[in-house]
Amino acid sequence: MLQQTRVDTVVPYYERFMARYPSVHALAEAPLDDVLSAWSGLGYYRRARMLHAAARRVAGELDGAFPRTARELAGIEGIGRYTAGAVASIAFGEAAPLVDGNVARVLARLFAVEDDVASGAGLARVWRLAGDLVAREDPGAWNQALMELGATVCVPRTPRCDACPLREACEAHVRGLAGELPRLAAKARPVPELRVAVVAAHRRRVLLGRRRDELRLGGTWEPPTSPRGAKEVPLDVARRIVAAGSARVEHRGTVVHVLSHRRLEVDVFAVELAARRTPREMSDYQTWAWVPRAEARARATSTFARKVLDCAFAEVATGARRGHRQRR
Ligand code: SF4
Repeated sequence: MLQQTRVDTVVPYYERFMARYPSVHALAEAPLDDVLSAWSGLGYYRRARMLHAAARRVAGELDGAFPRTARELAGIEGIGRYTAGAVASIAFGEAAPLVDGNVARVLARLFAVEDDVASGAGLARVWRLAGDLVAREDPGAWNQALMELGATVCVPRTPRCDACPLREACEAHVRGLAGELPRLAAKARPVPELRVAVVAAHRRRVLLGRRRDELRLGGTWEPPTSPRGAKEVPLDVARRIVAAGSARVEHRGTVVHVLSHRRLEVDVFAVELAARRTPREMSDYQTWAWVPRAEARARATSTFARKVLDCAFAEVATGARRGHRQRR
């Protein structure tokens, strides 16, 4: 849950999740939809699907025996090198290294690593350094101390070298490079993606589609969306989605939602249908459901889907101005 997500955001999710699934068996037995619903709003839904699949593997194939070494843990799909090292060292006392953003920064400065530590040779170098350094005695405390040093003292732009217990051994500090390291390649800007969403309603029920597992936001429910070209008229795309000639399609606004590599700009349309129908030829969705409007947000919906629903319904309820923009 904490990957790419702040602690204060995670705490209430974590507490609810643990109350709902207090054991690996409870998680394994839960339907995926319930797990995604408990995750709803945290983003990066692949993590929830992987966690659920891992619980099923541990409870089934491994007969409830949780792997205890970094090597065994890394053999479970969804557990990466960092998580394997963290669990093996902190939970089971194995002298396994870990590298997260904080540790990479500390090691890059301590050894004046000039390569980009986010990838390639620089990342391989900090992993080697972490492996050479990890304490044989209480490796969990060692790894946590390194992460904590990076989070509180050896911070990104203004490292607090005067308060650092490593300053005399730190090459970057001695050479006056602390503020310049680590060197990171410039991040690519999120690519704009134009889409159209249709919030179709019939007698206080709303149409949601479940996204295919292999796609972005896979397994979550949302009003159907479709890409549009820069020159396409959003209304035409919306009509194509609805595929109901006489239905009135109304533009409600534009939702902007930024994901790690994409900036979604989505024109939201609302339509009241005379009969329940589902869109044809929409390959992003594996199944459809007509859900009571009041329950739509409680489904396993992403933050993006909730923005689209809010955009469609808020304006119906308040008569607010058209064409407003919502940002994450
Ligand atoms: S001396 Fe400064 S740069 Fe070096 S590890 Fe400590 S805080 Fe980081």
